[in-house]
Amino acid sequence: MLQVVETESDQPICPHCEEPLVKILARKLQTTFGVRFIYFCSSCKKSLGISQRKGFWMG
Ligand SMILES: [Zn+2]
Repeated sequence: MLQVVETESDQPICPHCEEPLVKILARKLQTTFGVRFIYFCSSCKKSLGISQRKGFWMG
């Protein structure tokens, strides 16, 4: 069984530029399906994912 452990000592790493993700940028998108948020790395600006709601990862 996979265990999820909450941590504040380890930083997630951007899969594109391999910089630590100290902050993730979110930008609102108006689409035909409604409002979406696109998340991207603050270092390389590459997209990390799109969510239907703000704060809900890969929703
Ligand atoms: Zn990056």
